[in-house]
Amino acid sequence: MVETEAYQGDQGMAVRKPSPAAADLVSTLKKALFIIGSTTIVFVALRNSLTYHLQHFWGASGDFWQHQWDKILQTFGDDPYFLMVYGSTIVSYFVYWSIGILYTLMDTTNKPAFLRRYKVQPGTNEPVEPWKLVKCILWVHFNQFFVGIPFSIASYYLLALRGYDQSPQLPTFHWVLFELIICILLEEVGFYYSHRLFHHRLLYKHFHKMHHEWQSPIAITAIYAHPLEHICSNLSPVFLGPLVLGSHVATVWLWVSLTILSTLNAHSGYHLPFFPSPEAHDFHHLKFNQCYGVLGVLDLLHGTDDKFRASKCFSRHLMMLSLIPPREAYPDDEPKGKTVKGKQC
Ligand SMILES: [Zn+2]
Ligand SMILES: [Zn+2]
Repeated sequence: MVETEAYQGDQGMAVRKPSPAAADLVSTLKKALFIIGSTTIVFVALRNSLTYHLQHFWGASGDFWQHQWDKILQTFGDDPYFLMVYGSTIVSYFVYWSIGILYTLMDTTNKPAFLRRYKVQPGTNEPVEPWKLVKCILWVHFNQFFVGIPFSIASYYLLALRGYDQSPQLPTFHWVLFELIICILLEEVGFYYSHRLFHHRLLYKHFHKMHHEWQSPIAITAIYAHPLEHICSNLSPVFLGPLVLGSHVATVWLWVSLTILSTLNAHSGYHLPFFPSPEAHDFHHLKFNQCYGVLGVLDLLHGTDDKFRASKCFSRHLMMLSLIPPREAYPDDEPKGKTVKGKQC
């Protein structure tokens, strides 16, 4: 409680001096206002500068992208059904396998050798079991074609019902940026809760256990999942943003490509420099009941990352801005040579 001096009447022009505690409070408030004020100014200046440069880049290259889009429309036609269903399928298939195959080559050949130092769980999948790999490739193709295409058809009709941007003009840079932010937030909510639901004991053994056959995942296991899980946990959370916003098909392609790159990285088993950290989802595969989300915000809120935060993996959970492998920058506490293969965290 703040102490105040005793009331001294109205006589004279006496000015009550604030007590030391009140002075402290005023001083703290002043400092807080100064910090908040200057932080806001710096933040706004940086934000304006950043968006200015990005907008400048977009403005300079905007014609380029519009020109590319025009060429796509001239080549494949502007049928909204074709662009949304088959266009999205082709884009996602291309992104998944063009990057997925590079990671798979790293896992099957163990080359280049220096990349072994960036393994999240060293000693695992060196090399990956051939039959397990074939099974994964077949299931992923099943999900991409026999689950993905019907899902895209349903998505198209839902979007058409809701109404979405079918203009031959690409949306503006700022609008795409805004849509991507909303998509990321909605995906986090959709993925976290559906994923956590699949960990319920009644659902886990029937559906999600399949995805967890890989305790040390590789990139292309990203959508190695039961078809029901693929619909509810992988496809629907990604589709949520475009459905709410009525996004342009080009934004959908961009968003889908970003989510594929993100999930390939999260499952890759490699924590590479300048790449977002895959430690949290890798830890999920290792420990099963930790880190259900993508961003980690809901895990923090629900306390479902407590063991992760207490582990050594958490200290490595950052984007490495140097070539030093995370395991060497933040080594395990155990003496070298005593660690169990793939179980260090
Ligand atoms: Zn996974
Ligand atoms: Zn899981």
